[in-house]
Amino acid sequence: MKIISTAVELRGQSRGEGNRRVLVPTMGALHAGHVSLIRLARQYAGAEGEVAVSIFVNPLQFGPDSDFTHYPRPEAADEETCRAAGVDLIFRPLPNEIFADDHSTYVEETTLSEGLCGSSRPGHFRGVCTVVTKLFHLLAPVAAVFGEKDFQQLAIIRRLVRDLDFPIEIIAGPTVREPDGLALSSRNQYLSAEERAQAPIIRAALLRAAQSPEESARKTLASVREQIESAPLARIDYAEIVGADDLQPRPTIEPRSLLAVAVFFGKTRLIDNILLG
Ligand code: AMP
Repeated sequence: MKIISTAVELRGQSRGEGNRRVLVPTMGALHAGHVSLIRLARQYAGAEGEVAVSIFVNPLQFGPDSDFTHYPRPEAADEETCRAAGVDLIFRPLPNEIFADDHSTYVEETTLSEGLCGSSRPGHFRGVCTVVTKLFHLLAPVAAVFGEKDFQQLAIIRRLVRDLDFPIEIIAGPTVREPDGLALSSRNQYLSAEERAQAPIIRAALLRAAQSPEESARKTLASVREQIESAPLARIDYAEIVGADDLQPRPTIEPRSLLAVAVFFGKTRLIDNILLG
């Protein structure tokens, strides 16, 4: 497994047989959710292709009062996870390798980014689109794998690739969960024992909404909110029902309606989603 930290070194690398490099972009602190994406990447690349994982905690996608400096960076453990998962190449640049001090060009998707996490985290998706564009240019993969846990991000990346003609296939990986339903996230480790014990309420509320469908989005959202708020430490950031393709709010539940939530437990913000109908 090669570990590379500069663009110059990257240029000299072969990209696997037939240039079949498949990229899994991450911010590190790798868990079984990331590993499932690495497996998908291997399936797509084939045994002779190349699976590349980028590990970059992107300052552009963190807000001013966010956890950027404290975001976990367990370098040795991440290397071990990648090695065990059969990764061929880790690209782990430093921020100044990716962004020049006077960096002043951004990539912005302007429609799908507006609601949901986009309203709570201004500038977040601009940061994501900018860094993903750069990673796509630097690594030039034939495909890239993203998780459905970050459903809005996945939709925005698909739009970015379509709108800017990247010759890159986007592959979606299903959300990997703890046995009690909590979606795996690098941020779960911030939860106190009490918060961790209450966090599975998110998945429970989403599942109940999917299993007992109402016609009205308003009624569904009211019962989702009530159930999540029954956990004393939960504070809902948003709970919305949108079309899974355009991410616009829907008054009634139709095929491909997406129920998406963001919930704070203390300072930790957790997101999850489920398809209804
Ligand atoms: P992150 O390191 O949090 O930026 O995530 C890197 C990639 O892993 C993104 O495409 C995420 O959607 C994906 N991901 C994060 N958590 C999970 C999970 N529990 N299951 C599947 N994919 C995930």
